[in-house]
Amino acid sequence: MPEGPEIRRAADKIGKALVGKVIEDGEWPFPSLAQADSLILGHEVLSVTSRAKAMLIRFSSGYTMYSHNQLYGRWTVHLKTTDPRSRRSLRAAFITDKHAVRLWSATDIVLLPTPEENGHPFLARLGPDVLDEAITSDDLLTHLKSKGIHRKKGATLMLDQRSFAGLGNYLRSEILHAAGVHPDDRPCDLDDETLERWANCIKSVTVQAYEHSGVTVDLDVAKASKERGEPRRMWRHAVFCRNDRPCLTCGDLVLRLRYGGRRLDYCPTCQPARRGS
Ligand SMILES: [Zn+2]
Repeated sequence: MPEGPEIRRAADKIGKALVGKVIEDGEWPFPSLAQADSLILGHEVLSVTSRAKAMLIRFSSGYTMYSHNQLYGRWTVHLKTTDPRSRRSLRAAFITDKHAVRLWSATDIVLLPTPEENGHPFLARLGPDVLDEAITSDDLLTHLKSKGIHRKKGATLMLDQRSFAGLGNYLRSEILHAAGVHPDDRPCDLDDETLERWANCIKSVTVQAYEHSGVTVDLDVAKASKERGEPRRMWRHAVFCRNDRPCLTCGDLVLRLRYGGRRLDYCPTCQPARRGS
């Protein structure tokens, strides 16, 4: 499932085709878009952005289209002259003078007045959005230490959208490894130096994944792993999908754990448990 960085890159791509453009034509064969003829057609696209795993397209009508792809939704961007054959169900097509941007298969789509965006049930529950430029590492540190957060395990915090929005499974393993935090440790188990490093890594690993197509390790490290013949799912990460292999930092074996059925890879040497120590 795409994580925050992948959704933000999709928003950038859609934004390039739509922002500043008037929607000249379109199709919206989805019940919750019944008002699109008056709220989207003929209006300019003001911005396209993401929050956590939701896409937000804002129009000059004062309305926003919120959509969440969950596991099956998909966006495509084509020249408007291209006929994109797909067996998926079309949910919305936005046609400008040049491009056609389409949303397929998603079912969580709603049009709402832009000032009421934050009241949307999904957005209202989100924690700080790690990719939001206004959110700093200091903000994330304060959040890690806050009530309701500081007694939860790292493995829980790094996946829960209500704690930190935009993270997901590969980021969880990568952030905890980069920070040297054991997945069972809670912020309240850790000293200030470790907490600070953890907050910095939440930001830096996620931003790097956004800027470098999901690569969470140093680009030279990725290159070296690639040259050794590793597949993409492995060379782009430090520990995730590298279980039963030597840790790139210390050479010890990377281990796999499961939390709620979802895999988490970590290095017991780089990430020693501090709880109770
Ligand atoms: Zn290690």
